[in-house]
Amino acid sequence: MHNVDIDLVEMSLDVIKFAIGRISDTDPQLGFPKKAEELKALVGETITPAGIGGERAFELFRDVLVKASVSIDHPRHLAFVPASPTRSAVMFDLVTSAASVHGAFWLEGAGLIFAEMQAMEWLVKLTGMPEPAFGVFTSGGTEANLSAMVAAREHWRRLHPEMARERGIVIASNGAHSSISAMAKVIDADIHLIETEDRLAGSQLDESLSALTDEDRRRVFAVIATGGTTNSGIIDDLAGIADVCKQRKIWFHVDAAYGGAALAVKRVRHLFDGIEHADSVTIDPHKWLFSPYDCGAVIYRDPEIAKHAHAQEGSYLDIFSDEGAKGFNPSDYQVQLTRRVRGLPLWFSLAMHGTDRYEQAIDRGIELAEIAGRLITEAEHTELVREPSLSCVVFRRIGWTPQDYRNWTYKNHRDGFALVAPTKWRNPEGAETVSRFCFINPDTTEKDIADILKTMK
Ligand SMILES: *Cc1c(COP(=O)(O)O)cnc(C)c1O
Repeated sequence: MHNVDIDLVEMSLDVIKFAIGRISDTDPQLGFPKKAEELKALVGETITPAGIGGERAFELFRDVLVKASVSIDHPRHLAFVPASPTRSAVMFDLVTSAASVHGAFWLEGAGLIFAEMQAMEWLVKLTGMPEPAFGVFTSGGTEANLSAMVAAREHWRRLHPEMARERGIVIASNGAHSSISAMAKVIDADIHLIETEDRLAGSQLDESLSALTDEDRRRVFAVIATGGTTNSGIIDDLAGIADVCKQRKIWFHVDAAYGGAALAVKRVRHLFDGIEHADSVTIDPHKWLFSPYDCGAVIYRDPEIAKHAHAQEGSYLDIFSDEGAKGFNPSDYQVQLTRRVRGLPLWFSLAMHGTDRYEQAIDRGIELAEIAGRLITEAEHTELVREPSLSCVVFRRIGWTPQDYRNWTYKNHRDGFALVAPTKWRNPEGAETVSRFCFINPDTTEKDIADILKTMK
């Protein structure tokens, strides 16, 4: 295609200018979605036999399409789990693409995979998992959880050949992320969710396991605890759960996709005690470790078990396991084969800023949650639903109906002011609609929080 891009140089000036402008923009437009019909009317048909030209396509991107998409790093985007990639990581995402390197096999990607591995070593060290624990970067937490579940299930079947045709069972709490149930479906496993008000305790897990029939108990191949629930930052009793899993010889996975970043913050590290006993751990650098989308990670206590489950074989792949090409092949440890070197933006940013800066920036999210907790308590019209945990704050506007929360969310979003969404909180009386902040962006200010709370008056 190189020879048809005759206007490439001219066009790329605009594109690069946009990229640099956007990377350095600390107050980007929030962005608001449009209906597909509206976009069609504005953009028309862009894929044509002759092409519409780079200039026109870029104009449509800049003037219409990107404005109808939310900037995830907006400092008042506090809904779901927002993001806040460092400038250096975003810039290096461009470089990663420009370098054109295949990230699946050492034979092709050795140098860049080596760099990824150094970033991974840091993550593994944060978990405290002993050697030879190691991991790979994935497309996100969902893929990381899937990869871990497949490794666990294959391992269980290898240890128990009589279970080869049995459906496995995964146990988690009702606070587990939706991807756990979704990935159980993908691997055709049953899932048992233990009802908990708050964090899942080891004793509750033990009781639930004891309550199963002997037959069902033999089908349990993994317990999944959450290291920071997505809704409210609750960390399960990882040490207690690890004990039960060890006693009963069940694979212990910790889904710390959102919360795992807080392992780097010394003052809260103890909340994760027990994670070092996990058989596998999920952490998403694209959530609270300031990587651009998409970048998740899965870490295994014994990577050989994962390799057994995931390494693909094929005549054209043989060379990759040849003695002469020996090295770490990321594709052997998760469900994806061809992959970009997706840990590279994290590596560059970590190398540039150092891990101390990371600890400070992550801790700022926790501080912001503490500040929000105070402001919510001080204001007459709002109250906390529970104490802030990690960087999540669940709170109530006294007297509001679910429709009030929805109208408020849309108004703030439409005004380009903020994106904060309602969520559900399970009370003894049933599910209550409340609201929630999740702080990822260290550029969010106390004033941002106060201004948002004012819009609830
Ligand atoms: C976000 C999240 C996931 C899913 O991760 P993706 O990167 O969106 O695929 C899984 N588990 C938890 C706890 C999460 O917060």
